[in-house]
Amino acid sequence: MRVFKFGGASVRDAKSVQNVHSIIERFNTEPLIIVVSAMGKTTNKFENLVNAHFAKEPTEAILEDLRNCHGEIAKELFGDRVQPIIEDINNTLVEVEWALEDPDGLDYHFQYDQIVSIGEMLSTKIISAYLKFKGLENTWVDARDLIRTDNNYQDAKVDWDETKALTTSTINAALKKANVIVTQGFIGGTSENFTTTLGREGSDFTAAILAYCTGAKDVTIWKDVPGVLNADPKYYDNTVLIPEMSFFDAMELAYFGTSVIHPKTIKPLQNANIPLYVKSFVDPKSEGTTISNTSDLRIAPSFIVKTNQVLVSLTPKDYSFVTEVHFTDIYTVLSDIRMKANCAQNSAVNFSFSTNNDGAKLQQLQERLNEEYFVGLVEDAELVTVRYYDEETIRRTTQGKKVLLDHRTATSAQLVVK
Ligand code: ASP
Ligand code: MG
Repeated sequence: MRVFKFGGASVRDAKSVQNVHSIIERFNTEPLIIVVSAMGKTTNKFENLVNAHFAKEPTEAILEDLRNCHGEIAKELFGDRVQPIIEDINNTLVEVEWALEDPDGLDYHFQYDQIVSIGEMLSTKIISAYLKFKGLENTWVDARDLIRTDNNYQDAKVDWDETKALTTSTINAALKKANVIVTQGFIGGTSENFTTTLGREGSDFTAAILAYCTGAKDVTIWKDVPGVLNADPKYYDNTVLIPEMSFFDAMELAYFGTSVIHPKTIKPLQNANIPLYVKSFVDPKSEGTTISNTSDLRIAPSFIVKTNQVLVSLTPKDYSFVTEVHFTDIYTVLSDIRMKANCAQNSAVNFSFSTNNDGAKLQQLQERLNEEYFVGLVEDAELVTVRYYDEETIRRTTQGKKVLLDHRTATSAQLVVK
């Protein structure tokens, strides 16, 4: 068994879907699970739809746009045989219409998952049908019949035992019909048959879950970049491809915020020792990056930039030293309001951390901590993490900028700059 994951960018239009077909055709000699995301920016559009619904704003135009985008891609793919696919798209979108008609007062997170998950339903139906249209036999499988989760909507936790049992039986049955299985990334189901999602960009994680549960030989994530690069080409020139890296480094980079792999993806693969390939769907013959159990592989210095950061600085009003008691108070507040400290540091009388700029959360933070702390905020900062740093890379990173916080371990430097 192999697992392939195709993200939104790899299925954003008809040409991309044709490319997916040509990649699968090349590897179609052994059982293959294909995990697919929603097409292009579909998930963002569904999010807009949910937000409009809850703000009691019109939703019709957004829904029509979603219908048209998928319809247009289908027309280009299926030509004069598109009609059944258009019907399938419409039937799938009926679920959204029903959800939008649900009485007020339903939980936002619950409704989000019921509606946003439809993006993956649409993409997989179109892709499965297209593969068949091109003569590539495959079985469309509903990921909600594979991945069992709790009902923590928008960030559901996987029930691994149930998922393993469901996956084994469903995949084995599907493999009796065809070698190729097409299923949705990002989504799962509760024991009451409600849809859940695993968190934004969660399709990578789905691929890892299914690989783990089927004991797959490997996982390949097909991307619009040549593999894992040492920096985001959006921010840096002269990026280099990292041909090989350890699970450990991949986990650290993902944790610090590299956008190539979803952070939860690595652990199940590492536990089962299943290698992960990150490859280019534009140039499928190129090597890409192999992530595996190698040890002590020193990779090139890698940069991760988080923009739109706020540096929060907390000083106890009584000028007492910052101690365990303060940490407990502060982290309790952060956990309550779901604010993440991307990098933190303390001195005798100050605790500072960098966080994503979210006005509502910052307000809550101030309300909770104002009484006991002077709360300082520096907005429009950037957090740069350099893994395997050296002085030269630090100099390059901080050139012409003011360093607000500098936190280093033996392997990583985190700098908040402005
Ligand atoms: N479609 C989902 C998202 O955009 C999941 C994914 O692409 O991995 O977040
Ligand atoms: Mg995506």
